[in-house]
Amino acid sequence: MRRAPILFAFIALSLSLYAAAQADDAGLDLQCLEQAYPGAVAAARGPGGGLELALPGGARLPYDDGRPKSPEEALQNPSLKDMMDQVYPLGPDGREPGPDFSPGRRRVTAFFTALYGETKAGVMEKTVSVDFAGKRLRFSGLYGAAEALRAVGQEIAALLAARPDLKKYVSPASTLAFRAIAGENRLSMHALGIAVDLNPKLGPYWGWSAPGTPSPANSYPLQIVEIFERHGFIWGGKWSRFDLMHFEYRPELLCKSRRLRGEQK
Ligand SMILES: [Zn+2]
Repeated sequence: MRRAPILFAFIALSLSLYAAAQADDAGLDLQCLEQAYPGAVAAARGPGGGLELALPGGARLPYDDGRPKSPEEALQNPSLKDMMDQVYPLGPDGREPGPDFSPGRRRVTAFFTALYGETKAGVMEKTVSVDFAGKRLRFSGLYGAAEALRAVGQEIAALLAARPDLKKYVSPASTLAFRAIAGENRLSMHALGIAVDLNPKLGPYWGWSAPGTPSPANSYPLQIVEIFERHGFIWGGKWSRFDLMHFEYRPELLCKSRRLRGEQK
């Protein structure tokens, strides 16, 4: 029983940080950010009392910038709250997303460059070579990203051994590309070594499709998607602006999805 006061003090401190929330999900969002990037980011109170996230290198980002935004503004200039707001639908759900529902497309650039590198050289020096279904791919060695891709590759290889007809979806796969998102100025997660594209011929991108083209997500093999999700990746096939070839390491979003389903991790 001697440990109880310490435990209660810890819980009280956690509650004061998390539960005096500026938004219903603030506590969960910050917990998932801390859990996804352990030791690298930490929730804190700013000088004005607002919730902030301390980043590697010492910079701090406000959790909520307090600005109402149109869907396009939330995409182009999101806060951490905006970034975490749309809950990624795990598993077979959500394959017909409503307009402007693209969970994971809102990304706070300063957050990701602080984590993975500010320059091409800085990113590259943290990448490692990963065996992915018989091919060597370079991927970030930080925060479990490379280990996650390696685990995905092993499960995909086992899947393809049983289902060789699915091989055409997986190959060719690529990861690094130092460019902005096609047709936009925003930094691509391929520039940070945390995204993988499978065969683009069978994984179309909305921006390269004729206007109004419905997403073909329902005909994409769910077995492949579920393997990636199990290891911390989101799939661009669940976005209204669909990108079926695209998988991205975003453990903070899968943490939130699982916690809201009552799972513990
Ligand atoms: Zn991609």
